[in-house]
Amino acid sequence: MDVLLITPTEEYSKDVGDVVSLFISDYALHVNEDCAADIIITHDESIVSGTRKLSISLSGIYYTSSFSEEKIYSDKIVNKRIHKRQLKLNLYSALKEATSISPPWGALTGIRPTRLVYSYMAEGITLEESLSKLSSYYDVSSEKTELLKAVILEQKKYDSSDTRDVNIYVGIPFCLSRCRYCSFFSALADDIRLMERYTDCLIKEISAVKDMLKTSEYNIRCVYFGGGTPTALSENMLERIFIELENIISSAREVTVESGRPDSINREKLSLIKSFNIDRISINPQTKHLATLKAIGRNHTSEEIEQTFYLARDMGFNNINMDLIAGLPGEKIDMFMDTLNWASKMNPESLTVHTLSIKRASLMHLWKDSLPDGNIVSSMIDSALEYCINNKMNPYYLYRQKNQAGNLENIGFAKEGKACLYNIDTMEDTCSVIALGAGGISKRVWENRKLIKRSPNMMDPYRYIERIDEMIERKRQLFFS
Ligand code: SF4
Repeated sequence: MDVLLITPTEEYSKDVGDVVSLFISDYALHVNEDCAADIIITHDESIVSGTRKLSISLSGIYYTSSFSEEKIYSDKIVNKRIHKRQLKLNLYSALKEATSISPPWGALTGIRPTRLVYSYMAEGITLEESLSKLSSYYDVSSEKTELLKAVILEQKKYDSSDTRDVNIYVGIPFCLSRCRYCSFFSALADDIRLMERYTDCLIKEISAVKDMLKTSEYNIRCVYFGGGTPTALSENMLERIFIELENIISSAREVTVESGRPDSINREKLSLIKSFNIDRISINPQTKHLATLKAIGRNHTSEEIEQTFYLARDMGFNNINMDLIAGLPGEKIDMFMDTLNWASKMNPESLTVHTLSIKRASLMHLWKDSLPDGNIVSSMIDSALEYCINNKMNPYYLYRQKNQAGNLENIGFAKEGKACLYNIDTMEDTCSVIALGAGGISKRVWENRKLIKRSPNMMDPYRYIERIDEMIERKRQLFFS
């Protein structure tokens, strides 16, 4: 569908696109062009006596309009924020009326709705008041405000970090095959020479950061091996990395190794992970159904997932997470519930239920796959929520993504005491992160999130290797100077 935006403020066109995507999943936005379009959005505004009068009119297949007034603020940054919000809320109202669609998260387009609630609470209002502000201001549904409440109450049960705490992220950008929905940068784990050179550089970076940490006051809170698939590396490579990180691993409160694919795991690798006292791992089926697994490019079966899960359990792993995806191609609600039942029978300590999103960097986007019916996926997510709560797994973090089926969310559920601190910290920006390896983004968080600065590592393992000294220097600048 072609959408034409006629606006005096082109700089907000991306924000306009974010609102349009709440109602229309497949569209091309043209801004101030002389072209035909299915929907024409005309934005007008004027300033009268210190007030901005802003209107949105829709024409083409829809005819409606919306109007609002906002005070002009003297602080330029505040004024810009309010101006953008006024435009988005007007457009949201017009599109809601025209389409009769009520997006579950209302006009919210950000990926971390909990952050907005926390920011209201930081101004001194209660959780209940913050949620009601969210619903009256942004039209967030009561189901989603209840979900937010449950997540925030669950997060309160876990210790928050203090300003000296830091998390360590270790990125391993290799996978055994490319999953069709995935947008992470990862190389195929078929070039042993590249993986060895990568391991050497990663160890160099770890060693440099360890030296910097020695004279600092930072405490290690969590270590998280992500990627890619960390267990796509050979045992020897993994062992070298674990040995280099041994002191850091042993002083951390929580250490996770994403072992996402059963075809990357064997008894020897699990035994190696266990020997470093790492007990949180992730074994991710995404779905139980073989035809779907094949369609999304995962070369394993549900039986292999079960074998790997029970092997890990027998070896003493007592904190296992499983990731599932709602809305995979061709899956209906009974198939999703079948997967949920099957995964729950294995009794993992946590389940992360994602809603399918089609990101620009994924094969699904390249191959022009479309999102499934949002109402069906919404039923899947509602059922997952009910199922998990009935099975004593509470939602403890959530986030949204762009171009996600039904404009829904991803939710992490965990049994009592088994929520992943690293996930909470990452989502709520409650702890600094030193990210090592390709694709990681280091983040320094100052007290009360007053200031957050980020520094990315190169995504591509070749470029990471080429520029390893620069990656180390970036960390020195961000955390130790
Ligand atoms: S989903 Fe995981 S295993 Fe699949 S390509 Fe992405 S990072 Fe690799």
